[in-house]
Amino acid sequence: MEGYSCLVCFNDTRGPVYQIKEMMFGSGEQFAYTQCPQCGTIQQLDPPPNMSTYYPKGYYSFAGLSLSNVQVRWMKRLRFFWFRKFGLTLFQPVYGNWIRILDIGKDQAIADIGCGNGQLLYEMYSSGFRNLSGFDPFMDASRSIARGLKLYKKDLDQIHGSYHAVMLHHAFEHMPNPDASFAQLARLLKPGGKLLIRVPVSDGEAWTMYRENWVQLDAPRHYFIPSVAGMRILANRHGLELYHTEFDSTSFQFWASQKYQKGRSLHQPGEEVSPSADILREFEKKAASLNSIRKGDQAAFYFRKP
Ligand SMILES: [Zn+2]
Repeated sequence: MEGYSCLVCFNDTRGPVYQIKEMMFGSGEQFAYTQCPQCGTIQQLDPPPNMSTYYPKGYYSFAGLSLSNVQVRWMKRLRFFWFRKFGLTLFQPVYGNWIRILDIGKDQAIADIGCGNGQLLYEMYSSGFRNLSGFDPFMDASRSIARGLKLYKKDLDQIHGSYHAVMLHHAFEHMPNPDASFAQLARLLKPGGKLLIRVPVSDGEAWTMYRENWVQLDAPRHYFIPSVAGMRILANRHGLELYHTEFDSTSFQFWASQKYQKGRSLHQPGEEVSPSADILREFEKKAASLNSIRKGDQAAFYFRKP
């Protein structure tokens, strides 16, 4: 088909086309996606120009930021200290593993791009990090949350400055052009700086198993879903070294995709969002075993700028 070019490897021979329904809110509107036969990247063929209308007011990442009082913040600081100093995983915060692999300190400049309401940065602030910037074009307005924690209503190409670490947690795939985004991200790193990108990947068992109903296609909000090979191509082209990859898929890939298979949206009114604790436990075990053989449906990619 004329006009097709893989967003990652630039191959221009198109694979099969899939019609994917909008299912998070259940509008049922369809969007065409295809998978690159060379690098495995899945991409949307004709994304809607008015993408912001697919992020309605109730979009999950814009729920109110929840703040901790001074006692809780001290508790979080101690917990982080125990984790970093002694490796006590009992005290490991949700972001502990990322910080450990990025190997960054509390005064180093850290940016979270696509930060939503900034909750992750706030948790890091509570643990003592003091040079934090969050960016998200969909937030209501820029604001200063505390000394050392600022949130900016900005797109990736409007960000300036240089950082010891830049992270994107399920934000990269919401940007239209992975090659241009990657160039920008590489530009934002100081020499020796690290980049963490957490994304869904097309290498997972879930894509094979659920196809059009795979929850992480998330049409039309995801412009593309890279493969591990695709992430390596981007790194090589933009002069970054991919030094670590970790699959971190969860039970979500199963229960939410199964919901879509039954034609139910994620936020079906009058229904529990997630399944019972027993089923969740079973799915979590399955996810962990897929992650161990690099077949989970999402991964964390760690890059270093030389
Ligand atoms: Zn490709």
